[in-house]
Order: sequence, then structure tokens, then C-alpha cells
Amino acid sequence: MSKNTFDDDVTAVPVATANGNGSTAPKGVKLPIYMDNHATSPVDPRVLEAMMPYFTGIFGNAASRNHSFGWEAEGAVERAREQVAKLIGATAKEIIFTSGATESNNLALKGIAEMYRERGNHIITQVTEHKAVLDTCKRLEKSGYRVTYLPVKADGLIDLEDLKRAFDEKTILVSIMFANNEIGVVQPVAEIGKLCRERGVLFHSDGVQAAGKISVDVNSMNIDVLSLSGHKIYGPKGVGALYVRRRNPRVQISEQINGGGHERGMRSGTLNVPGIVGLGKACEIAGQEMATEGERLGKLRDKLKAKLEGSLDYIHVNGSMEHRLPNNLNISFVYVEGESLLMGINDVAVSSGSACTSATLEPSYVLKALGLGDDVAHSSIRFGLGRFNTEAEVDYVADKVIDIVKKLRELSPLYEMVKEGIDISKIEWQAH
Ligand SMILES: *Cc1c(COP(=O)(O)O)cnc(C)c1O
Repeated sequence: MSKNTFDDDVTAVPVATANGNGSTAPKGVKLPIYMDNHATSPVDPRVLEAMMPYFTGIFGNAASRNHSFGWEAEGAVERAREQVAKLIGATAKEIIFTSGATESNNLALKGIAEMYRERGNHIITQVTEHKAVLDTCKRLEKSGYRVTYLPVKADGLIDLEDLKRAFDEKTILVSIMFANNEIGVVQPVAEIGKLCRERGVLFHSDGVQAAGKISVDVNSMNIDVLSLSGHKIYGPKGVGALYVRRRNPRVQISEQINGGGHERGMRSGTLNVPGIVGLGKACEIAGQEMATEGERLGKLRDKLKAKLEGSLDYIHVNGSMEHRLPNNLNISFVYVEGESLLMGINDVAVSSGSACTSATLEPSYVLKALGLGDDVAHSSIRFGLGRFNTEAEVDYVADKVIDIVKKLRELSPLYEMVKEGIDISKIEWQAH
């Protein structure tokens, strides 16, 4: 098993370079098919075009104040700041550029924890956060902070009553993601924001999977700090942003990288001008096309789901269908061995519910948090649809998965027993 993960501890599936398994692509479908857009997305050609001039011609340092090379770079950065701000209902001055959402999440959590240490040391988050939040919380726990990890219900959503009970007089921050990267579940962000605001507690949200896909408005949702990433929204890798509220309340963040005082002192380092221009353009396009794109991808996702459910038994969707990103489908194919399924569809790039940790294959902690057993988690697949997927691709993927799952189940004694009505939970397995 490759240790080269696509994202988020979800294992990358090996992709055949040619038509794997002797399969032939129908007309208009090019193999392999990329359907793993929660891990990363290709750069939109319009984004690339906007970035190109900033590598060679307009290469100035945005911090150079003495000449036009610097001014032009700075102008481009400020335009991008406006574009990012507009997507989430913020103002340009509230956007800090970073190297990506891992850094944004670190800066938000560590920066707030440090700045508000006098006020309290308690942070609330939840168990299905991205590792960039969970690992940062673990680190803060070592420095004397207390962290409450809220559980999620079987549908992947937190219970707002749990959140209400978790607040105490030392709570300074709540960090709950907007939409989950594995199961696409959208948390009740506006309600969480309201509860935090009423208590004077800051609210950070990891908005990577949500911004540009569904509507995100930092003011109506009472979000104080929001993390964004370029490469999940058809922008470049290695660039992200952190929204930091300036009014009602004014949020303060201690810088975690020192040296020069860039980005209003919150994040030093020479700005990645082409990357920032790309992120800005990606946000602009997303803002303009989000509604139609969401509708299109939602229909394709629903078609994929309907086809799979129409032909296969013992499959189930993980996470709420109602509160979900339009481009996500995460399905368990019970009584199918996950690795075999992945190998069988190796001309389709998707992610499995397994994560490689050193030598062993660990079931996804997100799926486990929903209450799935290890076997079922391993038999799960995340389909992440994106801007460049077509209906013909969805049809191909559905047919392929159905074909492979049926073949694998023909070889599965467990599936046979279940079909014959034997209660396999009552069987006492003998060790040989
Ligand atoms: C991808 C992802 C991140 C990390 O973003 P990078 O820009 O790759 O560092 C954080 N949170 C979520 C939910 C993600 O999907």
C-alpha cells in the first residue's frame, strides 16, 4: 500500500495510467478519471492565465515600496484580497494570506490561544475535524490548554446541546469545521456562531471544503476566523488565507512566524504573489459559478447514488444527505473487501475509508466517529466530484463500481451467508 496519501489520511487509490483491467473507455471519457476533488483540484485554466504574468514580467516583491515592480505586485495582492473577501462577505483588510489551510488552522488556533491566555485556556472542537485542527489542539494540550472534543451523531453532525454544555467560564475559542472533507457533512455553522457570540467566545471555522462550494457569510453566520485553501477550489497549491474579523469583535491573533511584519504583523514572509493572484481569481470564479456548479454537481452526485443504490444491496451512505456538500458522496459497500474494491476500479481516482499509518491500514477516524465498524469503514469510498467531471464519467464510474462490487461479492462467503438469511453476528469464528 502506498504511503502517498491524497489528503486527510484518506488513502490514495493507485490509478492505472492506461485503461486498467482491460476496460475500454466509452466515447468522450478519458481514463483515468479524477473523482477525488476533496483531496485537491486541478487549477482552472482561467486561474493559471491570471497567474502567469506574475512569475516573470511582474515579479516584484509586494513589500518593495521604492519602485513600480513592488507597487504592481502589491496592487495585484490587494485585488486578490478583495476577491477572497467578497466570496465570504468580509472586507479586504480582514484577509491574511498564508501557505495553505494547514497554516491557517495553526495560526488561528495557536494565535488565539496565545493571545487570549489571560482570559481562559479552554477550547472546544469536535472529533471529525481535519488533522490540521486536531493535531494543533493536541499540541496546545501539551502547553496547558484544555480541549473538549465534541462527539458527532451517526449523521456526522454535532449536537448543539453538547456544545452548549461544553462551554465554561474559561472557554476562549470554538473551532468547528464548516464542511467535512471525507463525508461532506455541513455543520450547523450559523447556530454555532450564534451560541458563541451570545457567550463572548470566539468562533473559528475550517472553511476549506465549503467556501466556493456553498454559501459562506462570515457576518450572518457570526464566524470570527475562517480558514481557506487555494487548491481545493481550482486554485494553486501552497497558498491559503485566514479571515480575521476586525469589528464586533476585533479579533487579535499572535503571530506564529516572525520576520518583517507582513500581513499586518500576523504572518511574516515574502508574499507568494502568483499564488495569491491565483487564489483571488479562484475565489472570483467560485463566487460567480457556485450556484450553477453546485446544482450541476448535485445532480451528478444524486445520479451516481441512484445508480449504485439501484443495482447493489447492502450499501449505505455515510453522513447526512440533507446537510451535505453537493459534490460529495461517501458510501460503504458492505461485505466487500476495501482494498480489492479499490484495485478493481483502478482507472478511477477516489479515496477509501482507510488511512496508511506506517505498515498498517487504519480505518478512517471520521467514519469510526459515525459508529462504523472497522470492516465497514474499510469498505467505504469517497467520491469527490468537481468542476471538470462530466455525466459520461459519472456513468462510467457507476457501472464500473457496480460491476466490481458484484464480482467481489460472488467470491464473498459472508455475503452468501447474509443472502441465505444466516445471522453472521451469531457465528462463532474458529481460529485455524
Ligand atoms: C485540505 C484541507 C486542509 C488543509 O489544507 P492545505 O491547504 O492542503 O494545507 C484543511 N482542512 C480541510 C477540511 C481540508 O480539506
